[in-house]
This record gives sequence, C-alpha cells and structure tokens, in this order.
Amino acid sequence: MPRENKAFKKRNPDQPAAIWKEREILDGKPVDAGVIILRTSGCSHYHKGGCSMCGYNFDSDRGVTPGNILKQFDSATKDLGEVNFIKVYTSGSFLDECEVPKEVADHILKRTAENGQRLLFESRPEFVTESALQDALSGNENLEVALGLESSNDRVLKYSINKGFARLDYETAARRIVSAGIDLRTYVLLKPPFLTEAEAIADSKQTIAYASKFSKTLSLNPVNVQKGTHVERLWRNWAYRPPWLWSVLEVLRTSDHGRTKLICEPTGGGKERGAHNCGRCDDVILSSIKAYSESQAMSRLGSPDCDCSDIWRSVLDLDGFVVGGTMDLQRFYRRQG
Ligand SMILES: [Zn+2]
Repeated sequence: MPRENKAFKKRNPDQPAAIWKEREILDGKPVDAGVIILRTSGCSHYHKGGCSMCGYNFDSDRGVTPGNILKQFDSATKDLGEVNFIKVYTSGSFLDECEVPKEVADHILKRTAENGQRLLFESRPEFVTESALQDALSGNENLEVALGLESSNDRVLKYSINKGFARLDYETAARRIVSAGIDLRTYVLLKPPFLTEAEAIADSKQTIAYASKFSKTLSLNPVNVQKGTHVERLWRNWAYRPPWLWSVLEVLRTSDHGRTKLICEPTGGGKERGAHNCGRCDDVILSSIKAYSESQAMSRLGSPDCDCSDIWRSVLDLDGFVVGGTMDLQRFYRRQG
C-alpha cells in the first residue's frame, strides 16, 4: 500500500499502472525489490463504497482482461530486470479471483518462483482461505502476504475508514497466514478521518501492539490525501489535516512491537497532502524515518530543534475541543501569526 504516485504510465491495459525499484531489508540484508502496480478490474470493496482514504481504484479499469494483466506483469518484470523480491500490488486483493483470475495468479507465482524471487502480495481478509494459501504456496513457497488492518478498533474500522471488515476478520486471516508458514505484513494507518491527532497516535500504537502478535513486519502508513476520496473532500473543507511528522515519530518511538519489524515510508511525506510539519524540519525527519526503517535502530530517529513542535503539542491538547471534530489548526495558527 505505501506507494508513491511515480512513474505512472498512460492507461494502456497491457501496461502496469506503475513500476519502480526500491531497497528492502530481507533477512537483515538490503536487497533490490521491484514494485509492480497492476491495473485490474478493481477492489471488490470499492463497489461497496470503498475506504475513506483509498484512491487506488483510480488505477483500475473494468475492461481489463486476464490476458492484459499477464502482459502487464511480463512487461514489468522485463523492465525491472534482476531483483530478489517482487511486490505485486493491485487496487484490491491478489487472492480475489474476480480481480486477479486464477491463471494470472498462477503465472505470477510460478514465474517469481522460477526466478528465485520472494513474492509479496496484498489481500483483504475475506479472500484469505486455507485453500487459497495452499494454492499460492504450491506456486511459490517464498511468500509474504500483506493485510491492511489499519486499526484494531472496530469503531474506527467502521466509522472512520468504512473498511468493510472487523478486527476478528483480520485475526482469522492472520492466523491462517501464520499457520501456513507465510510471513505476514500488516498495514497500520495513522490518522484516519474524524480522529484527533492525539487519538490517532493512540489508535496506531494500540493497533501496532495488537498486530505485532501475528506479524513479521508492520508498516505504519500515515494517511495521505488521495484524489477522489472522502478524505480529500474533508481536506478541501478544512476538516482534515494529514498527520504531523512529529506524530509519526511519536508512534515509531513509543509503540510496543516486540521483535516485529516496524517500518514507515510516508507517501507524500513533507507535502501538504502527506504527513508534514512546518516545511523546515520535514526533510530531516523523513530521512531519519527512512534510516530507522532500514536499521530498526531507535537512535536513527531524528528530533530536530524546531518551533513547530510547540504548535504540534498545542494541537494534541486542543484538537479535541474544536466543535465538530478535528480541523487544520496549523493553518489557523499560521493565519493568526
Ligand atoms: Zn518544524
């Protein structure tokens, strides 16, 4: 799910929506990972309203055929060249046969296995059945499955995110993945709409503590304002501000995740639509978050001396008093100043 809107290609059904390379730590060693965003017919949940912050359906196309997706994958792997790790993202679920037909999934699993590549894919929990996992393993044994839990709080899942499943659905899927011997990666959202900054920090910390019991890796994803989403409408009406980078630091520093790896790569970090601070301290913090994600060394998390941390602290105190919920207090302060 953490993905930059970079290198997005023109809408050609035979071309993936985007591909890029990134560094990933695998068994303690940095490796090249290839990211492929396949253009599919879209997420099953999108047709039921979709999640409040998710704009990935923008990349989907209802007319895409299985043959198109096969061509997308083959052209992407050719362009990526030699990589040890392939991450295949769709707008929804790799295990949803309506979205990724079986022959396509089988081809991707087989091809990555032949190349000795680890394969990561994402799924909603309802598609994570024992037989689906066994089928996937018979294609490629070196798998990582990512589930977007976002929040371990059922009220947040229902009212802030419209996730369309409850915590227990995640837990059932997570246990199946772990029992099958597959590494689980869990996405944790930071600051879904209608939560104050302080509530958002507490929610992410709680979710991290809960999901660390099942996961090999936890990925903290600060909300970024994506086009065509409910979050974007709120943001345009001054009713939403993406999280502060101070909040990201706070969650990374103070969460209890045991030995589970905790990584964070804020999409749109430092920009108005992504997690940001005042603009002066953003870059230092972002590179420290990257260094922390790679090393897991708390000492790498930076804490620059910047005045905006005072504003952030005031927001933590005052946010909850604003009638009607959260608003962008920083922009308000800036105008007063
Ligand atoms: Zn600052």
